[in-house]
Amino acid sequence: MNKIAQIFETLEYGPAPESAQPALDWLKAHDGIFGHFINGAWTKPGKTFSSDNPANGQSLAQVSEGTAEDVDKAVKAARAAFKSWSALSGYERAKYLYAIARLVQKHSRLFAVLESLDNGKPIRESRDIDIPLVARHFYHHAGWAQHRDREFPGQVPYGVCGQIIPWNFPLLMLAWKIAPALAAGNTVVLKPAEFTSLTALLFAEICEKAGLPKGVVNIVTGFGDTGQAIVAHPDIDKIAFTGSTEVGKAIRAATAGTGKGLSLELGGKSPYIVFEDADIDSAIEGLVDAIWFNQGQVCCAGSRLLIQESIEDRFIAKLKKRMASLRVGDPLDKAIDIGALVAPVQVERVRDLVKKGAAEGAQVYEPDFDIPGGGCFLKPTLITNVSPSHTVVTEEIFGPVLVAMSFRTPEEAVALANNTRYGLAATIWSENINLALDIAPKIKAGVVWINGTNNFDAAVGFGGYKESGFGREGGKEGMGVYMKPAWEKDLKPAAAAKAVPAKPVNPLDGGDSIDQTAKMYIGGKQARPDSGYSRPVHGPGGNLVGEVGDGNRKDIRNAVEAARAALGWGNASAHNRSQVLYFLAENLQYRRAEFAARIREQTGEKGEAEVDAAVERLFAFAGWADKYDGAVHNPPLRAIAAAMVEPIGVLAIVAPPTRPLLGSVALLAPALAMGNPVVLVPSDKAPLSVTDLYQVLETSDVPSGVVNIVTGDSAVLARTLAEHDGVDAMWYFGDAAGSTMVEKASTGNLKQTWTSRGLNYDLADTGRFEGDYFLRRATQVKNVWVPYGA
Ligand code: NDP
Repeated sequence: MNKIAQIFETLEYGPAPESAQPALDWLKAHDGIFGHFINGAWTKPGKTFSSDNPANGQSLAQVSEGTAEDVDKAVKAARAAFKSWSALSGYERAKYLYAIARLVQKHSRLFAVLESLDNGKPIRESRDIDIPLVARHFYHHAGWAQHRDREFPGQVPYGVCGQIIPWNFPLLMLAWKIAPALAAGNTVVLKPAEFTSLTALLFAEICEKAGLPKGVVNIVTGFGDTGQAIVAHPDIDKIAFTGSTEVGKAIRAATAGTGKGLSLELGGKSPYIVFEDADIDSAIEGLVDAIWFNQGQVCCAGSRLLIQESIEDRFIAKLKKRMASLRVGDPLDKAIDIGALVAPVQVERVRDLVKKGAAEGAQVYEPDFDIPGGGCFLKPTLITNVSPSHTVVTEEIFGPVLVAMSFRTPEEAVALANNTRYGLAATIWSENINLALDIAPKIKAGVVWINGTNNFDAAVGFGGYKESGFGREGGKEGMGVYMKPAWEKDLKPAAAAKAVPAKPVNPLDGGDSIDQTAKMYIGGKQARPDSGYSRPVHGPGGNLVGEVGDGNRKDIRNAVEAARAALGWGNASAHNRSQVLYFLAENLQYRRAEFAARIREQTGEKGEAEVDAAVERLFAFAGWADKYDGAVHNPPLRAIAAAMVEPIGVLAIVAPPTRPLLGSVALLAPALAMGNPVVLVPSDKAPLSVTDLYQVLETSDVPSGVVNIVTGDSAVLARTLAEHDGVDAMWYFGDAAGSTMVEKASTGNLKQTWTSRGLNYDLADTGRFEGDYFLRRATQVKNVWVPYGA
């Protein structure tokens, strides 16, 4: 080896320490103790707890434990500020957001040092990633504040937003929450995580400096019960939460029936797929970023390596070599790759999971180098020899631990990638762009990175599918979750529906000599109810006008299975779906008189207008099918991000008791237009207009399983649907109690719900319901990042 090569081989890093002094001075200026920031002022510190430096265990400051009274004070301040803040012009709000962005930039080094001290992340990351992205978020949302009314006509802010964030990206998560909320015109009460409150408190000072009106931003520090007090507060209009799936589910249950808006950004177990034609060295550098960025404490960490079998040995050997050159150490050293985990309890949790993996037969590899003692340091870890059911493969480890498995074909890669309850992110490495772009839409994840990883930008939405939560942060879709239509506040309670006789007193009463009981419609076939019972349908005078099957949980199970088998409807071209909906409209129009007579029989009302409205609605959504689509973003990286509008999956619909035909069609049409197979429970009072639809569906080229219809007691069937893990989203028209039940029961798989909460949503209103109201709820946005440049 010549001398230069030898020097390169043996070259050691010298220390490159960043001074902690400016941050320590700032803490000292506050006497190392903090109250809450409420109504533009600091409260006297109450009962406090210590915020520690995880790199050395030393206490940095004392932070107050927020009580329910503190939360109440903060909510009152936010409520009082809402009126004038939301009345400001967009330009005025934009100027405040811009001022915050500028001040974050001005004090960026202080923020970065404080963040690394408090969280343990390498200064390289807080300095070059977290804090610049925070500034970028406020800049970006200054623009949204100004253009809100133009881009979101008819939308108004929720009011007071309660925001709860985790410790892994303390200031960045704050920015992701506060910037869009303020841009939309909301005021906020935010709780940082107990381990990492300090940069949120420094941010409060930035708000003061920016002259932000008092009460617009309130920061209450504390533990989980402070978060609980925010969730439970009756005067909060929307909750935005980032954290674990477990707490996300508890918040879903706690907010059920309250009418509070909700967005959840939860955990993940994201696949990192490497095909045999990938640029292996780049894929390995990407992997370092995917799993060892922020010590692996990243919700979207590429923690499941899926590698094509033909390159597995070579890849793993190179990876181990690269792992051996990673540097673990003082977060304030600028040449460090891996800093400290956030707290001793997190270190223990990660160690326990790795031990469990070993006990289950996995092979654990750690490079052979020393790491500092005394702090929360762990070595980068690779786990191999696992199967899909291993704990380390299914559970989020949230630490510097990578789990590797192999696959043979692209189909197998997709199956393994989707074999998780989560759906936050995925990474694909392949030099074959056709293959990568074929795989990206097949993966159920809110973000897909091709030949890159962990790219983030304020203009590009971020958020999950399945148990990774719902709602997006960033991009236009992220703004959308902080607003609602202005007309919603004027909705009045719906008139109580007349009672539905469940069964004839004498089951042998009624019916003709030849039975004409309408059956269910499941998987494109008419099916008898599993129960073997039927339900009478009465006209307005109490006369028997027909009978339908009395569906039960087995019928629902069959319908959901049929709908899942028809998920390919979402891959049909939008033009194809549009044609089917036009054809449905045409065939319904053709039988106008018959459907009108059926409506009259059941309701006593002339039915022609309702049939016409149903036909018009089908036309409207046939028209939307190929127009409600995505965007291509141009973030400040050499990449495009394609925001693809995708169906959610199997959508369950419980139609309103009124408007027997339009009530179902108005919901079915947007769901189908966007590619969701449906399980529909029609009005239990007047189901015959929908059971008559079977023949129309059959003659309109609707593929089997795309529409499944189960008649029966709406409340009973709604519960089964809400609890069913095969249902991805649910819309429920019914009373307040039923709506609460649906929202609570949806926590099992965190399905997205929309409920009418007993309010009078008039589905005949074309202004409100022929546009994007239900389209937005029938879709989710997946952002696919594709780098460019040679
Ligand atoms: P937690 O869910 O425990 O905590 C998140 C926040 O919620 C903290 O502020 C916490 O307070 C608070 N909290 C705890 N219990 C409750 C409760 N019952 N009601 C209301 N608030 C509560 O998660 P971690 O902080 O431990 O963060 C790690 C998890 O977060 C990981 O699973 C990770 O995947 C996920 N995460 C997801 C992200 C995403 O964008 N999807 C981003 C970052 C993390 P306290 O700190 O005092 O316990």
